[in-house]
Amino acid sequence: MNKTPNISKIFLQQNIQLYRKIVQYLFLATVVSIGVKFSIFVSQLASGILPTVSRPPGIEAFLPISALISLKYWLVTGIFNQVHPSGLIILMIVLSTGVLLKRGFCSWICPLGLLTEYLNRLHKFIFRKNVKLPPWLDYPLRSLKYLLLAFFLWSIILQMGAAVLDYFIYSPYNMAADIKMLYFFKDISHFTIWVLVALFVLSILIRNFWCRYLCPYGALLGVLSFLSIFKVHRNEGTCTDCRKCTRTCPVDIKVHKTSSIVSDECHACLKCVDACPENDTLYISVSKRKGILKPWIYAAAICLLFIGGSLTGRITDYWQNNISTHEYMFHVRHLDLPIYQHTRGNVSAYNKASWLRMMQEIRQTGEKRSPS
Ligand code: SF4
Ligand code: SF4
Repeated sequence: MNKTPNISKIFLQQNIQLYRKIVQYLFLATVVSIGVKFSIFVSQLASGILPTVSRPPGIEAFLPISALISLKYWLVTGIFNQVHPSGLIILMIVLSTGVLLKRGFCSWICPLGLLTEYLNRLHKFIFRKNVKLPPWLDYPLRSLKYLLLAFFLWSIILQMGAAVLDYFIYSPYNMAADIKMLYFFKDISHFTIWVLVALFVLSILIRNFWCRYLCPYGALLGVLSFLSIFKVHRNEGTCTDCRKCTRTCPVDIKVHKTSSIVSDECHACLKCVDACPENDTLYISVSKRKGILKPWIYAAAICLLFIGGSLTGRITDYWQNNISTHEYMFHVRHLDLPIYQHTRGNVSAYNKASWLRMMQEIRQTGEKRSPS
């Protein structure tokens, strides 16, 4: 009898966390390369030279509020705006991962999710165990991210009509939002540093602090994940109640007690599936014993959603925006003007018609001019 192990079976079935790490680091490398490229692009513009690198459209992934505004604008007007089109495409990809693959974005893609995992390890190293907050504190804190999400949805979905959305989207503030975000971190204020330090320390003291309590994106995905066709299921017939799944779950779900995990906190990290020593006892599937998804297919699916979505954007010409390099040079040179500021919850007054006319002139002639 051939006792050679089936290598492909071992590789495909027993390396869920390896796949997850590979996917996480691939996306982290992509994010870092986008950040570096955009930084070079802006610093060359600031030096008054035409950039030797092009602006990476993926930078718009860091403008989720602008993307949500673009989404509503698209739904109410049918116009897919060309100011930050890739931001809207990336938002739709992320939302589709929530509907199809639960909160997999948080544990497979998001660099903050990866950082959180390392901070959780530091937490365990310091306290020698996973410290859990008592439920009376945990539940109210978990509602904070939903309050933040509700605030954004209320201000954008309920408060902004088509005319206001249009005014915002074509404003200098929104057009230069990516550059302003870069400068926000480059010229970081003392206050922001202290906020980041506080978040860092709190994330060490309290596991998953940012993701569990504050991230509005995680809240949105948590809500959408209830619609997800895939869930983690447990076969009660073969479960030996060893509780390894529950002990390994980073978000403290009592996996060994449920037959199907229905929780907004489940990140679909599949650590419980990995930890279960019994064959076919924990699995991700459409329903009990139907449509079981092999972990490697899950990994491929989440990557394909991103790759396929961005390719679709490129093919349909909705990936690269229509702001020319000369327009960006204009933005970089005039960022201090009041029209680039956001005041009292509104975009500062600007004359939309003359602003767009001037942008068009710069696009056509490549002129460096001053605002009138
Ligand atoms: S229930 Fe399983 S898949 Fe969900 S977060 Fe916990 S370990 Fe990860
Ligand atoms: S790890 Fe598997 S066998 Fe153990 S309690 Fe969880 S589901 Fe049951």
